Amino acid sequence: MRTVLDGVKPQRLRPVFRAIHQELQRQGILEGYRFLGKYLVSIDGTGIFSSGAISCPDCCIKTHKDGREEYYHQMLAAVLVHPDKNTVLPFFRQAITKQDGSKKNDCEHNASKRLIPQLRQDFPRMEMILLQDALSCNAPHIRLLKSNGYSFIITAKARSGSLLLKTVLDGLANGSTQELAGTTSKKLRCGYRYANDIPLNHANQDVRVNYIDYWEERPDGTTFIYDCVTDIPSPPTTWRMWYAQPFPLEGGERNL
Ligand SMILES: [Zn+2]
Repeated sequence: MRTVLDGVKPQRLRPVFRAIHQELQRQGILEGYRFLGKYLVSIDGTGIFSSGAISCPDCCIKTHKDGREEYYHQMLAAVLVHPDKNTVLPFFRQAITKQDGSKKNDCEHNASKRLIPQLRQDFPRMEMILLQDALSCNAPHIRLLKSNGYSFIITAKARSGSLLLKTVLDGLANGSTQELAGTTSKKLRCGYRYANDIPLNHANQDVRVNYIDYWEERPDGTTFIYDCVTDIPSPPTTWRMWYAQPFPLEGGERNL
């Protein structure tokens, strides 16, 4: 199998993935994957090959401190997921090659410039919410998603001093940021803060996003925070967060 597949250009497999998804749709299986009325598609890079001896012209190369070179391949995978389902359904993947750039971030970003329009081409009418990590939380990428008709939920990791976080924190004072707080089933204090239609950053104020974060006070005294930007408007009662425990919105205090 490996000997046969080694000679096949990955692009030749693209119609195969399309055919499988069309069949899943025909049989009504995809319908069970709907979330907020759309389909959640998680996109991330993953390693598929690494060797100190075997290489090809497409290999990315990592040079170790001792001068040893390691050859590796990665790919950018798009996978249909649902928080209640153990089975994920992969779409066609995009190979990340040496030509994509010398740094990991460049590589993944350049591969996604190919993957995102191709996914739209293969599934022109499928309403998708793309889930991506913080590497994708930048204006050119969000513009690419919007121009291809995707919804998105992207990890933000908003830094202190960023316009995004400043707008959210200022909003707590002037009422444009909402906060819902309560207690988890494990008696931990937790809450959501959200602000809709705010600028992504100073340089790209025309790129408007909705921001939402989840915070939780841990027994060790630290506060866990997860934040993301999305085009889906809050309040969070309208969507079930995929990463958090069920949140006790009933009886929770508001606007702390
Ligand atoms: Zn290679």
